[in-house]
Amino acid sequence: MGKVTGFLEIERLEQEHEPAAQRKTHFREFITPLNPKEAKQQAARCMDCGTPFCTFSCPLHNVAPDFNDRVYNEDWEAAYEILSATNNFPEFTSRVCPALCENGCVLNYTSKPMGVKSVERAIITHAWNQGWVKPQTPTQLNGKSVAIVGSGPAGLACAQQLARKGYSVTVFEKNSKAGGLLRFGIPDFKLDKAVIDRRIKQLEAEGVHFNFNTYVGKSELPKGVFSEAERTISPDEILRDFDAVVLAIGSEEPRDLPVKGRDRKGIHFAMEYLPLQNKINAEVEVKEPISAKGKKVLVIGGGDTGSDCLGTAIRQGAAEVLQIDLGAKPPVDYDKMTVWPLWPRILRTSTSHEEGGERDWAIMTKEFIHNKKGELTGVKAVRLNWVTDPVTQRPKPEEIEGSEFEIEADMAVLAMGFAHPNQSVIKDFDLDTDPRGNIRAKYEGEGCFKTSSPKVFAAGDCRRGQSLVVWALAEGRRCAEAVQAYFENNK
Ligand SMILES: Cc1cc2nc3c(=O)[nH]c(=O)nc-3n(C[C@H](O)[C@H](O)[C@H](O)COP(=O)(O)OP(=O)(O)OC[C@H]3O[C@@H](n4cnc5c(N)ncnc54)[C@H](O)[C@@H]3O)c2cc1C
Repeated sequence: MGKVTGFLEIERLEQEHEPAAQRKTHFREFITPLNPKEAKQQAARCMDCGTPFCTFSCPLHNVAPDFNDRVYNEDWEAAYEILSATNNFPEFTSRVCPALCENGCVLNYTSKPMGVKSVERAIITHAWNQGWVKPQTPTQLNGKSVAIVGSGPAGLACAQQLARKGYSVTVFEKNSKAGGLLRFGIPDFKLDKAVIDRRIKQLEAEGVHFNFNTYVGKSELPKGVFSEAERTISPDEILRDFDAVVLAIGSEEPRDLPVKGRDRKGIHFAMEYLPLQNKINAEVEVKEPISAKGKKVLVIGGGDTGSDCLGTAIRQGAAEVLQIDLGAKPPVDYDKMTVWPLWPRILRTSTSHEEGGERDWAIMTKEFIHNKKGELTGVKAVRLNWVTDPVTQRPKPEEIEGSEFEIEADMAVLAMGFAHPNQSVIKDFDLDTDPRGNIRAKYEGEGCFKTSSPKVFAAGDCRRGQSLVVWALAEGRRCAEAVQAYFENNK
């Protein structure tokens, strides 16, 4: 433990944010990492708890007390070794993770949590600056080949773990660049794509081979799935050419809103809208851009994806942005005594919400309205009352009589989450699914990550369902261990 009395004496430090009025004029990142002196101060607040709930709460089981201690003692190289022992890409998580570790921090019980995420960012920033992040090439290859389908965080973490163990790893990706939702979903103002490029170079140097613009499957892509595929490889070919296959295909089929007028103009899925702005930022030509400039934008869906759409629309110069949610407004506060260290359902305000726009809750969209020219002019909606179902004891919505109203909008973005992974790939590989349509495979125990098909594994959102980057990394790492165990058991 760095400083025994640190948690009593030192206030939590926040990373500096560029003011909202300024940052909403561009698409660049706007958070400045703590400098080494500030990080040391932050790390001094860690209590090195006997039972580290931060480690328990993090899907990667980060060893925060140990790296905090090393930062406090200014042994940055050791801090980097500890951090990277459980996390392949701390520069991703320290930018976009909701920090489950901080929620679980024992200090959070009575005060403000220790700033684990900002220390993590300071460590990895320092490590890159010092040139400590180097390719770790295996001493020899073991003669086994693994195909990984999908280059999101799950696929990348799995590829890196296996390549370092001596496997010949080939990643197949339908898009033009690696990163999955990190690249094409998450806006640049949250995650600069140069940060991904730097890691891909490291993976290539470690022997990972990437095949871009290559779709693995036989059937048509479902509506709303972003793709830049220029060629197709059939599952049979992959199964024939590789000793094992890992599917890390994400959960890409968006939830739709099949109400009257949905099939007409002005309504876009979030993953039809966000990737285009990321491409424009990368100076890639976009033939049919979708811009919110001067428009009244309605974002349907109250989650993180919706908040990213709101931040993007504001930067594009939208006249107004309204984000609505079907669910009731979550409580602003909660009773920590009853919930800690679990993740509470509370009202969360993202940096995008700080930049403008409005939010409203408990609203159901009933119809999209268009004018005679076929342009979207708004939606018909109704307000909801959430009640407890007497039989299931679960909350259920009831429409409030007479609450029908209209919302003006000339652009609507559907950000209501993703139902499940692309079912056509699952069918093409002939795999079992769980009741939610995800690929059936266990997370723990014997045979974990193995699907119903021999030598086919699944990891990330396609197995777990729509989740978080930190969970995708944890899945990718654990899946790599499962692949290794499979080869060891089948010698
Ligand atoms: C807009 C948005 C913002 C988000 N923001 C955050 C955030 O701030 N923090 C956070 O923790 N999480 C966030 N998430 C969730 C997070 O991005 C995902 O949980 C995570 O990326 C899942 O990783 P994955 O590797 O399982 O899948 P993905 O990242 O979806 O990657 C899957 C990859 O597989 C490829 N692929 C799919 N099928 C095929 C095929 N048949 N052939 C070849 N390639 C294929 C896809 O093109 C894609 O590149 C966000 C999600 C969205 C949509």
